[in-house]
Amino acid sequence: MNCPVCGKEMEKGHVITKNSIGLFFMPGEKDLRTFYTRRNIEADGGIVLDGPMTFRYNRTWLPAWVCRTCKKIVMEYW
Ligand SMILES: [Zn+2]
Repeated sequence: MNCPVCGKEMEKGHVITKNSIGLFFMPGEKDLRTFYTRRNIEADGGIVLDGPMTFRYNRTWLPAWVCRTCKKIVMEYW
């Protein structure tokens, strides 16, 4: 995969979290609601990358590519 900013080849890796409630993309400046259910996150225009977990035993591991020059990360989700 090539960097969307400089066009150089990106380095493959992954984005990881441990003991988290999950990982989410939220549009604009939106935060998670107090009750961060999948339904509430998606109703606010968010994307659930992993989770949401009620208990913090989660481990998120998503494929990603990095350009260390531009400090950009491109992630894949499902
Ligand atoms: Zn770049």
